[in-house]
Amino acid sequence: MATVGVIGAGVMGKDIALTCAAHGYDVVLCDSEPEVLASANGQMRRLVRKYRMMSEAVSGWRADEILGRIRLTDTPADLAGADWIVENIVEDADAKEQLYRSLREVLPEGVRIAVNTSCISITRIAALLPRPDRVIGMHFMNPVPLIEGIEVIRGHHTSDETTRAAEAFAASLTKRPIVVNDMPGFVSNRLSHLFMNEAAFLVQDGVAGPEEIDAIFKLGYGHKMGPLETADLIGLDTVVDSLKVLYDEFQDPKFRCCPLLKKMVAAGLLGRKSGQGFHTYAAGGSL
Ligand code: NAD
Repeated sequence: MATVGVIGAGVMGKDIALTCAAHGYDVVLCDSEPEVLASANGQMRRLVRKYRMMSEAVSGWRADEILGRIRLTDTPADLAGADWIVENIVEDADAKEQLYRSLREVLPEGVRIAVNTSCISITRIAALLPRPDRVIGMHFMNPVPLIEGIEVIRGHHTSDETTRAAEAFAASLTKRPIVVNDMPGFVSNRLSHLFMNEAAFLVQDGVAGPEEIDAIFKLGYGHKMGPLETADLIGLDTVVDSLKVLYDEFQDPKFRCCPLLKKMVAAGLLGRKSGQGFHTYAAGGSL
């Protein structure tokens, strides 16, 4: 079976590693932080338990079998044998650029690279690599095992062959790819970060509390989650980072980050992953 190298073992990396392993891939999961790697196995085991309870589609997942296919490493050179790389490090263009420059030394030219980013231009990342035609955006949605769609982003150089390979990779994970063109934030986050940010302004301005704002989206518009629940799920630090990318790239004040979001991040209120954001969560991230 093919091997997938997953870089970054945070919220997304762990979910993607589990999803690939559950669909038969061997996975090498790489993170630069020793404490992230030390806790990854236990967290992934708990995630499997949680997802099995949440969805019929993953009720057959077996933690031992899935974790048996995931190898953890802090060494990017261990990714050299992978057929696909899925990169999920922090939403910081400089950090991603530094990583891709270092990957040039260790990855074979022919490897296909899926960049999982909320907002950063795929074209900009692809230009750092010797085969930009083999680089594509694959914006997995959180929580990955439960969400069917993947936003697939064609960069300026992405070839038709790489696009077809990404569609086939998505299908092998029982996901539905939706192909769009490259522009910061793509479709999903260019829209969603506007409403999450504006919802934070509504809380800051005292117009309504998080419960009321989310209830209007759920009971009024029929959305499964409100904007502040969504921000908590993503991680408020990642939301702030993504708004910075959108603001810098478009130079448009509509993307200016709500000060309340920055204040919450400074206070360590990151949403589900820290147990407290706009809402309060039990250990393990459930409401
Ligand atoms: P996270 O902060 O939970 O995890 C990032 C991980 O990357 C951390 O474990 C960190 O130690 C690791 N890391 C940082 N630099 C590294 C390096 N040079 N090499 C190896 N590991 C490194 O972030 P996340 O929420 O998982 O997001 C990851 C990416 O996916 C971001 O670009 C984000 O915008 C995107 N994304 C996030 C969501 C979401 O809902 N959280 C959804 C879709 C896409």
